[in-house]
Parts: sequence; C-alpha cells; structure tokens
Amino acid sequence: GVSLFGWVFVLQVRNGERIEADLRAAQERLEVIATHDSLTGLANRRLFERALQVEFARGLRQQSPLSLIMLDIDYFKRFNDSYGHPEGDELLRKIGTILREYSDESRIDIGRIGGEEFLAIWREESLERCERVAEELRRAIEQMAVPNKGATDHPHVTMSVGLCLLPFEKAQGAYLCADKALYRAKEAGKNCSCYFDDDTGTYRVLCSISGR
Ligand code: GH3
Ligand code: MG
Ligand code: MG
Repeated sequence: GVSLFGWVFVLQVRNGERIEADLRAAQERLEVIATHDSLTGLANRRLFERALQVEFARGLRQQSPLSLIMLDIDYFKRFNDSYGHPEGDELLRKIGTILREYSDESRIDIGRIGGEEFLAIWREESLERCERVAEELRRAIEQMAVPNKGATDHPHVTMSVGLCLLPFEKAQGAYLCADKALYRAKEAGKNCSCYFDDDTGTYRVLCSISGR
C-alpha cells in the first residue's frame, strides 16, 4: 500500500497543480480586465493601440494599405443632460454591442478609445469597401432609433464617422487623418461619414439616407 507520507505527497502535488491553475485563470481574467472596456466589452485604448502597432507592422511586411475609422456619438452631452448619466451608460453599452457584433462578423478590430469615441482598424485595399463599412456602422446606430430629444436636427441618437485609407508607408498618420475626416463630418451636420483623402487634401461627405 501507499504510506501516509506518500498520500500527503500526492495531495500536495495536486494542491500545487490546482493553485497553479487558479493562478493562471486569475492572470487571464486580469489580462482581460486590463485590456477591455468594462462598459462595452470592447478593446480599450491600451489593447487597441497594441492592435494598431500589430497592424502597422503587418501592413509594412505585406505592403498593404490600412483603413482606420473613427466614430463619435452626436450630441451625447445633451443625451446625458436629457436622460441622465446612467441612461448614457446604457446607450454606450447598446452601441458597444452593435460594434462588437460587427467587429466579430467582419474581423475588424474595434475599440472604445475614449468616452463616446470608437476606432476601427483593418487592412483594406478598396476605398469602396472602406466607405461601405463606415456607412453600415453609422446606419446601424441610426436604426437603433433611440430617441435623443436634445439633438436639434435628428430625432434619434446618431454617430459621425471619419475614415481614411492610407498606404502602408503613411499608416502612422492614420489617426490624424481619420480625426480630420470626423471633424468635417460633424461640420457637415453630423450623422454622416466623411472620407479624407490625404494625397489631395480633399474631403468627401457621405450621408446615404438622410439626403443631405
Ligand atoms: P458632438 O455632437 O459634437 O460630438 O457633441 P457631444 O455632446 O457628443 O460631445 P462632447 O465632447 O461635447 O461631450 C461628450 C460627453 O460624453 C460629455 C461626457 O459627459 C460624456 N461621456 C463621456 N464618457 C461617458 C461615459 O462613460 N458615460 C456617460 N454617460 N457619458 C460619458
Ligand atoms: Mg467626442
Ligand atoms: Mg460626441
């Protein structure tokens, strides 16, 4: 038979294994907490910036262009003022779910990088597809049809989208480029997407259903 000493040894090894497994699980949970936004479950700024660097490096290796889009909720301050901060959080959660599902289906990295600002990045050759993604996301938010009584020109919650598509050698400038495009989309009346062509310095505003 096995001596008492033998059993104690076996139990200690088992215990050690369990502690190790528990530690690993805890570490994984911590990693998820540190890299994801607790409200929406999307990648947070830290993880998204890591993804950005990965895409830059891959784009460089494969010499493929990169598409970056920046999304910002319109009149979100007024939404908070009208319905309260908890409702604002609930809205962010809903938008997060839509963006997360889109991200999973299209294999596009999407992160929440600030309060009501989101970024999406992926490798893309086609401007047409880049614009389609931007408009699909914008319309998905509009179609939630969540009332926003504080918004002057739209009865519902909407988003503005800035997009840019850059060759790999210029990819580092994508953030600034998308930001410019977003700013123009806001100027154009919000609930629009806008493409900024970095080569020519020109903008193209897209608002496919509002007819503006
Ligand atoms: P614009 O249409 O030009 O984008 O205006 P805006 O009101 O959406 O943008 P602004 O930058 O003026 O205000 C952003 C607001 O977002 C202010 C802030 O209270 C709110 N906000 C930021 N993070 C959170 C959050 O986590 N929860 C809630 N409820 N509100 C947030
Ligand atoms: Mg903002
Ligand atoms: Mg906003």
